[in-house]
Amino acid sequence: MVDTILRNVRCLVGGSWTGSEIAIEAGRIVEIGSSVMGAAQADVDGDGAYCLPGGVDLHVHFNEPGRTEWEGFATGSAAAAAGGLTYVAEMPLNSIPSTTSVSALYAKQRAIQGKSWIDYGLWGGVVPGNADHLPALAEAGVMGFKAFMSPSGTDDFENSDRATLRRAMEVIAPTGLRLALHAEDPAVLHDTVIGLRQRECAADWEASRPIRAELEAVRTAIDLAGETGCPITIVHVSAAEVVDLIDQARAGGLDILCETCPHYLLLSLDDAEQIGPQAKCAPPLRSAHEVSALWERLRAGKIDTLGSDHSPCPPEMKTGMSFFEAWGGIAGLQHGLPGLLDATGLGEPGRIAALSSLFAERPARALGLTRKGTLHPGSDADFTLVKPLERKVPIQSGLLLSRHPCSAYVGRPLGLQIEATWLRGMPVVEDGRLCGEARGVLVKGSGDHTP
Ligand SMILES: [Zn+2]
Repeated sequence: MVDTILRNVRCLVGGSWTGSEIAIEAGRIVEIGSSVMGAAQADVDGDGAYCLPGGVDLHVHFNEPGRTEWEGFATGSAAAAAGGLTYVAEMPLNSIPSTTSVSALYAKQRAIQGKSWIDYGLWGGVVPGNADHLPALAEAGVMGFKAFMSPSGTDDFENSDRATLRRAMEVIAPTGLRLALHAEDPAVLHDTVIGLRQRECAADWEASRPIRAELEAVRTAIDLAGETGCPITIVHVSAAEVVDLIDQARAGGLDILCETCPHYLLLSLDDAEQIGPQAKCAPPLRSAHEVSALWERLRAGKIDTLGSDHSPCPPEMKTGMSFFEAWGGIAGLQHGLPGLLDATGLGEPGRIAALSSLFAERPARALGLTRKGTLHPGSDADFTLVKPLERKVPIQSGLLLSRHPCSAYVGRPLGLQIEATWLRGMPVVEDGRLCGEARGVLVKGSGDHTP
């Protein structure tokens, strides 16, 4: 007898939605098919919901310890679970201290222990002068490393110049881990910003951080990765031209991944003008023309992973100020996956399968999370149940579970909802609400659970 059988859900099988049942034992899927034989301690009716693998988001900033007035693991992971995610990899900056040494990594692990609603991993940071710490961080179990090529927005995580990046890549390459790069060339940003600070609207912000800044930085990253053999990911790519540049390098044999974020697909520069500083991020939101070009690249299979780059702040750092003064970061992980599913349409199972893979299987594979991101026997029973709504309903700030009820998506209509999210065989979200306890644990790239 197994622990649980979830019946009456629709899973994607061979590009179409198929009535399915999932048998779960000790937190893992033991069988999945149109009909599962045998008995279970608990029989659960999925009520015809669409069942997708839990989202694996490799790009969140939860800011704990040190800036929990901005977010924190309890609230950030709650919002993630409500948004259909079951795993996050958390970035090394905006916490204090930054995760640039083993002692800082352990301080973060202690601070967040027992607080997360979903499983998680932690990135290590590359900053000028910490190359000697990187092997020990790898040994201690970081998922990979993150560096900024342009200023990060906070003084406590310095950006890396070419020499720093080269040294870091030489040290990271033998660890088998990946370096994730915020790729904007500071020289290009600096040049363009001069003379623009007049109206300080979303369009000025966009003009001050042109696509050329991303292209220049990605060229540098490609050169260095080629010289050192270090696997890299270009995070939060905002434009099709940048995707194409990465794609060419990959075709040339480089181990390079391309991440984009839901906000570059769901929101345009016109939306940013309307939303205001809640829609400020770097690289900035682009024109509607660029948004559709990015969708084309996604549908052509040229993007590897989707990550939210959830980077919240207290409301007072976004309100009553211009685009240039406001904190640059979009809070949105609760509605990124639902928004993309809705934009794609549940009635398009082939496209949903491709999208789901970018949000679950491929990020899991990128970091060696062998039991995450798929609904297969042997995988963790991590999934989300989605229900279409009869009509689109605007996203309400009152339903946000992050520390502050702020998001770039508030007020935007959504035609589906996350009904439930299950982590290792038990719901953490039911009827759209948190349930049970915060059971999330650190899961390292080997797939080991470390309670
Ligand atoms: Zn980020």
